Amino acid sequence: MKKTALVLALLAAIPLFARQGSTITVILGPTIIDGTGRQGIRNGAIVIENGRIRDIGPRGNVRVPANAKTIDAKDKYVIPGLIDAHVHFFQSSDVYTRPDVVDLRKQRSYNTELDWIKERLPVTFARYLASGITGVVDCGGPMWNFSVRELAAKTKNAPRVAVAGPLISTYVPPALQTADPPIIKANTPAEARELVRRQVDNKPDFIKIWFIHRPGENLEEQTQIVKAAADEARMRGLRVAVHATELMTAKAALEAGADILVHSVSDRLVDNEFINLVKKRDVLYMTTLVVEEGYREVLNQQVSLSEIEQRLGDPKVIETWAQLGKIPLSDIPGGIRTRPARETRPVTFQNLALLESTGVRIVGATDAGNIGTLHGPALHREFELMAEAGIRPLEIIVSATKNAAAVMGRQTEVGTLEKGKFADLVILDADPQIDIKNTRKISRVMKNGEFIEITPGMLR
Ligand SMILES: [Zn+2]
Repeated sequence: MKKTALVLALLAAIPLFARQGSTITVILGPTIIDGTGRQGIRNGAIVIENGRIRDIGPRGNVRVPANAKTIDAKDKYVIPGLIDAHVHFFQSSDVYTRPDVVDLRKQRSYNTELDWIKERLPVTFARYLASGITGVVDCGGPMWNFSVRELAAKTKNAPRVAVAGPLISTYVPPALQTADPPIIKANTPAEARELVRRQVDNKPDFIKIWFIHRPGENLEEQTQIVKAAADEARMRGLRVAVHATELMTAKAALEAGADILVHSVSDRLVDNEFINLVKKRDVLYMTTLVVEEGYREVLNQQVSLSEIEQRLGDPKVIETWAQLGKIPLSDIPGGIRTRPARETRPVTFQNLALLESTGVRIVGATDAGNIGTLHGPALHREFELMAEAGIRPLEIIVSATKNAAAVMGRQTEVGTLEKGKFADLVILDADPQIDIKNTRKISRVMKNGEFIEITPGMLR
């Protein structure tokens, strides 16, 4: 009798997973591009257990457990799950989503638009995964942004989400005023500090500042407001991302303590002073080249979509773009401000190439949610534009994996394929080191050690 009791006790002590069979997955034979910038390892192996990478390397160096479930990935390429480090979930990318840019509130009220966006979040999340994107940073929006992060955390088919709360700004467009506005103006340094404190209880992943300087405004006063917000954030252990697109405001933002510069410097070529400021504090420089194109194509009614945008973009969003052309201009207060054609080699592209060559940490991101910039597939178009600017494919991958993970503040957990990190990865059918467009040839997507089954119903 004693013996039986002992056996029972021993059985109970065996961990549950051992009795249920293996939870170990091995991806065998692919070229592994690990996101550190190193050339891919051919004929590799990745051992995944309990959501994390247990071992990784050339196949000969990796011990494959006998009970593992193996995935044959010979002739395939594995990259870390992509991260779009700049999106806005409060914007759908349809024509009704920015009434401050084009005012169609007579056609669809702003509240109707916001309700629709919230209802559609699960589908929007799935579009990211289908696009190979397992992490997303929401760069600022209404206070309900924090519940978006919560919703993503408990939704199986959702990327990992980091968020900032309302943008603290030196200017606010009147059309975006709601009970829970995405942008709030700080009139004084004290107000800026108070706006940071208002977000702290919600544990923002960082604080976002919208530094808008218009002709005639007092730059010195505005810089003090930005500096106060940055100081208050730092005191509370929070990093600061600043939207500043002119060389002058970008430098002021760096001096005020920005950790992340959002968008590109677009008014002129950057100078040595700027480069030194960026390098001194190892600031992350975020591109968002594609957002300009999105606005131009939709507002000018000259939309041209890549295959992956057509396939994975939200059809309900895309169909609104053509609606814009059918609305009489007399029904649009303020009309439509069309955009000039792109220059052959815009200054944003030149700045990107220059900064990359000096070793600045570049982050490839989209500003998805803005009119014309689709949640999900837009990141692949961003990559194409970065390549046009002269960035090599391996560096583009680093910019949207390792460096983007740093924007999330989760670089120790995700962003590269290394032992101990979460198994977030994409299996590709073609080599992205040769042509960055091959990141679109997605075979399978894994998040947290589990393959995501992308079904048409998920993207309805
Ligand atoms: Zn943005």
